[in-house]
Amino acid sequence: MLSLWDDNEAAQCRGELALRVYTSRLLGRDKTLVLHGGGNTSVKVVETNLFGEDENVLYIKGSGWDLETMEAAGFAPVRLDHLQRLARLESLSDTQMVNQLATHMLRSSAPAPSVETILHACLPHRFVDHTHADAVLAITNTADAERRVRELYGDTVVVIPYAMPGFDLARLCAQEYPRQAGANTIGMVLMNHGIFSFGDSARLSYERMIALVGRAEDYLKRKRAWDIAARAAAPAGIDMLQQAQLRRALSDAAGAPMVMATHADAEALAFAQREDLEALSQQGPVTPDHIIRTKRVPMLGTDVDAYTRGYKAYFDEHAPQAREAKTMLDPAPRVVLAAHFGLAAAGRSAKDAAIVAELYRHNMQVMQRAEALGGYRALPARDLFEVEYWDLEQAKLKKGGTPPPYAGEIALVTGAASGIGKACAVALLARGAAVVALDIDPAVETMFQRKDFLGLRCDLTDEHAIGRALESAVTAYGGLDMLVLNAGIFAASRRIDELATDEWRRVMAINLDANLFLLRACHPLLKLAPKGGRVVVIGSKNVPAPGPGAAAYSASKAALNQLARVAALEWGADGIRINSLHPNAVFDTGIWTEAVLAQRARHYGLTVSEYKTNNVLKTEVRSRDVAELAAEMCGPLFAKTTAAQVPVDGGNERVI
Ligand code: ZN
Repeated sequence: MLSLWDDNEAAQCRGELALRVYTSRLLGRDKTLVLHGGGNTSVKVVETNLFGEDENVLYIKGSGWDLETMEAAGFAPVRLDHLQRLARLESLSDTQMVNQLATHMLRSSAPAPSVETILHACLPHRFVDHTHADAVLAITNTADAERRVRELYGDTVVVIPYAMPGFDLARLCAQEYPRQAGANTIGMVLMNHGIFSFGDSARLSYERMIALVGRAEDYLKRKRAWDIAARAAAPAGIDMLQQAQLRRALSDAAGAPMVMATHADAEALAFAQREDLEALSQQGPVTPDHIIRTKRVPMLGTDVDAYTRGYKAYFDEHAPQAREAKTMLDPAPRVVLAAHFGLAAAGRSAKDAAIVAELYRHNMQVMQRAEALGGYRALPARDLFEVEYWDLEQAKLKKGGTPPPYAGEIALVTGAASGIGKACAVALLARGAAVVALDIDPAVETMFQRKDFLGLRCDLTDEHAIGRALESAVTAYGGLDMLVLNAGIFAASRRIDELATDEWRRVMAINLDANLFLLRACHPLLKLAPKGGRVVVIGSKNVPAPGPGAAAYSASKAALNQLARVAALEWGADGIRINSLHPNAVFDTGIWTEAVLAQRARHYGLTVSEYKTNNVLKTEVRSRDVAELAAEMCGPLFAKTTAAQVPVDGGNERVI
């Protein structure tokens, strides 16, 4: 493990807080040290207040901030002397502690100070760094852990037995540190939790962390517990429908739709195929920090019902706080391990599912190294349980607010690289759905860089390509709840007597046949949607009011309209709703360039602006207007509606 300290970068930092930000970011860059908001850092400074008096202030990482992207604003300034007095109290409840921290800050807009604030205050060093380093966890989560830690670090660290994070842990450290610390002390190991380092400069404290964790890594290597064999038998695999069924079961157990990502890589498979998988995985996560974020002991196999029953029984057995927490926590597992497909990770959003998977990958590595070192031992169930139902975490859950309307749901949009399709993708993302976007234009693949967006280049006239795209979608997100049939082409204006058969067929292949392929392939997935499947068809004003020169287009859209009506009849019993909207004169799409618009307007003797608003309401219809309606058609407003056809055209006299 190498120090990332750079003299030139450090020279840019003005003052101790700036250096604190700098080395916090260095820690955050190494995922084997801190993950997703884990770890925390602090610095103690003297500041002059408005009265000209000196005050001792602890700048501590605020909750909700990630070390990797830390800024000065992410540190909460708290009165140090007060924190040190608190540490001497006999007891302090979580609620009292949160209140004391919040009322002794020096900046009202600062984030809530970390739950480990009092602990940082107790350590007599200017800079304090804390991580949940994988290598240290692999050593502290073994049968003979304390002896190993002492053998490895000697008198350079203080060793603290496990205690619940928060006041109890801070108080224990406040008592143990002066008792154990000596001239050689540079850090502190917290059993089953993580490690601290400290020093009088940002660099010293940071580099001590790197040195201590580096020694833990070398120790694991020396004991032949570092390299993990990743040889796995070829997986039997899991098909698309089984994935969607598993996701449905997880969603039912959670009481809300969940996104589920399947990971069948060599690392995940090798772990899921271990003979001692149950003994390893069913003990629970490697540090309370991970429990807070993944919530659950992972489930083996795919029997979600059995897991949920077991979880509920566990609930009832453990007393009062569990009963209270029951209303807030769902019993759904977040990680599923199975020899035939590896690992499935679930969450209320694609981002959450990705965090669960990443945290669990670190857990897998730590467990396997600990096992190789002398046997993995997690905390006793009782301690894990306490963290899971921790008051502070419950309070955070309560504060979480209402999730977006389509949280945990997955939508597929065709023709999504531009125009109405792209606007639909944006409208659905904004409502919390994960979006799979298909288009023949490869630009769709890089349109958005975010966990809840999967852009796939796909020729919709190729049934096999559609099948492959759906498989990728289900592997990424677990199923399909909403389908927006938008892709279509509008060929050059041609009268019937001049219309070539090839052109007619090309328009039919894209505007009609491709939608049959999609509907047919998506039906079993939509049937499994936890809140019922929804389909939105982007039709056209040409369905009720066709135009001369547009025979192929008008006929294809009318046939699609009829296909949708039949689907509404056939799929109603499966809880799938299908509604259509008929836009007209939407000009902010790929086909309408400035030049074409000007030319068409001239053709009718209108200005471009008159041409754009040439409807009953004299209003311009934009892609976004169509997309917002399409997205709403998937929501509760249309819950009791199927086979509706809604114009979105500013009012058209021929249609009215
Ligand atoms: Zn911690």
